[in-house]
Amino acid sequence: MRLFALFLAASLMPAAEPDWPSIEKSALDFFQRYVRIPSINPPANTVEAANLVKSVLESNGIPVRLLTSGPNGQTNLLARLPGRDRTKKPLLLLNHLDVVPVDRTAWKVDPFAAVIQDGLIWGRGTMDMKGIGAQHIMALIALKQAGVVPARDIVMLSTADEETDGHLGIRWMIKNHFNEIDAEYVLDEGGFGSREILAKDKLVFGVAVGEKLSVWLRVRAKGTAAHGSQPIPDNANVTLIDALRKAIALPAAKQPHPVVAEMIRNIGAPLAQNKYTAAIQVNTASLTSLTSGVGSPPKINVIPSASEATVDCRLLPGVNPEEFISEMKARINDPRISIELVTIPDDPGASNSRTPLFDAIRKAILKHHPNAVVTPMLVPHGTDSVKLRMMGLTAYGLTPMVLDLTTAGSMHSDQERIPVSEFLKGVHIFYDVLSSEF
Ligand SMILES: [Zn+2]
Repeated sequence: MRLFALFLAASLMPAAEPDWPSIEKSALDFFQRYVRIPSINPPANTVEAANLVKSVLESNGIPVRLLTSGPNGQTNLLARLPGRDRTKKPLLLLNHLDVVPVDRTAWKVDPFAAVIQDGLIWGRGTMDMKGIGAQHIMALIALKQAGVVPARDIVMLSTADEETDGHLGIRWMIKNHFNEIDAEYVLDEGGFGSREILAKDKLVFGVAVGEKLSVWLRVRAKGTAAHGSQPIPDNANVTLIDALRKAIALPAAKQPHPVVAEMIRNIGAPLAQNKYTAAIQVNTASLTSLTSGVGSPPKINVIPSASEATVDCRLLPGVNPEEFISEMKARINDPRISIELVTIPDDPGASNSRTPLFDAIRKAILKHHPNAVVTPMLVPHGTDSVKLRMMGLTAYGLTPMVLDLTTAGSMHSDQERIPVSEFLKGVHIFYDVLSSEF
């Protein structure tokens, strides 16, 4: 109701500055209501979350369509704000309505109460990614309220299913409604600002232009079954352990990835040393599961004839998965070992950062953080952007918030939260990006 009143007042004074105190109050109020809806995936029943977003956008004069992708309330949302040049392909704001499950016993606060404590807003989805979703929504409302017609159409897609595999979310949208989301540019999650994670004691905003490829492997060893009382050399478990040591000992990268090289040049210093920056500079392999033994629970006195492990490898864009696996096989050099590729990764490469939109993002961030370095970056994990890059769209991961190591690491954890001040500043940054020429 309050938002609707704001819209009426603003429509009498087109192209004014948004009423920021009022927008900020509405933004925080909406964000809390949004987090309070437990849109957990599975099953990705997002109808209630989608209806809340729909009501707040429509009461501000922005029409919304809901698209049901599954039988249990799986609901995607599309909104469109028309721009001045309608011959240009739109800019797509991409966010997701679903959140990962919670272990309530591990949380110190109710994960769906959106409690504000010590300047932080706590709850599942605050970081991933209802916070950014709320920033997209409030930036659209601020544009509408101020009477700003953007340079081109802005489409917002809030998907039902990002946290499993996107089959009822981005994949479903690409398959069934691609013409409605076919855009020149995409702004998605990924990337962030930090004073410590990317470079030591330096404020760096990384805007994600690419991500690593997920290469998931199943490694199997074959051996001879035998009695545990009489050790044999052909023990599948021992063969597997020896092979895994060699499998995860990856050779050093021959040269830095061009995006990482550009990051280092822009920062003017080496990257900070931590697991995040380590992961974006090289190919990685994490041993994630071991399965073996005969019987359940496994018999202690039986040497099994087979043993199995899974390895989560993440390759830099441009690295050929087949070559990566054949190099791994050569290192292991044991005919008793087989390696199966569980996922076939997409590799669209990195998006071009020399665009008017990237310039607009840089300008908007510098307006609010004059001492920041703004740079293209890679992210070590997967996002929905990869699917859209595969379709030829230019996709950037923009999280316009300064985060410290523990806050950034709270995603999917039992302490997920973001600073309220950074959440609000992010609304301004998105507003500045969307109201510029691009
Ligand atoms: Zn997410």
